[in-house]
Amino acid sequence: METKFYHGNLKPKQFAKALHAYFNRNNLDTKEFGSDDKIIVQIATRQNALSGGDTAIPVIIEKVTDGVSVQIGKQSILGVAASLGLSALVTIRNPINLLNRIDDIAQDLENLQLKNDIWDVVQQVAATNSATMTLSDTLRTLTCEYCLVANPVSEPNCIACGAPLGNLQPETCMNCGYAIKHSTKICPNCKTKIIRE
Ligand SMILES: [Zn+2]
Ligand SMILES: [Zn+2]
Repeated sequence: METKFYHGNLKPKQFAKALHAYFNRNNLDTKEFGSDDKIIVQIATRQNALSGGDTAIPVIIEKVTDGVSVQIGKQSILGVAASLGLSALVTIRNPINLLNRIDDIAQDLENLQLKNDIWDVVQQVAATNSATMTLSDTLRTLTCEYCLVANPVSEPNCIACGAPLGNLQPETCMNCGYAIKHSTKICPNCKTKIIRE
């Protein structure tokens, strides 16, 4: 399971809406559960789908401090695997049967691509709402360790007492947007190595 964090003025509903618009078509169907702050969009094969095996994948969209987190759950691909297996079997027995399975194979391959397609849609929502993987200014306000005065980000020294603020600057993982400490070497969320200049 993969989670990404988008920072900025965002609402889970914006992501849910885009997922419905994109995936509720052809052989797929979307359903929504939850509340405004935590929405689960389930993308699954439509009943009586004309081709391909059955699949389902949940997308969990949650309001977090300063933004939204998006998690793509585990996709059930048993139906797809079975359908692809059947296609292979009938084709081996009689290659001419491949023609009858073309639609199934195309749909099955498309279903296996679902996760990437979901990230593309999510990324697009983030981009149109100018959300970023880096923390926005609200979360970046720094509190001085010594005098507890709030400082604007990028201020190297406390505006009140002059203490250095360098080590307090929060950062985010460039791969998933997770907020990390200055000393973090490996992202606790996506396990990516944090590279600093
Ligand atoms: Zn201070
Ligand atoms: Zn990460």
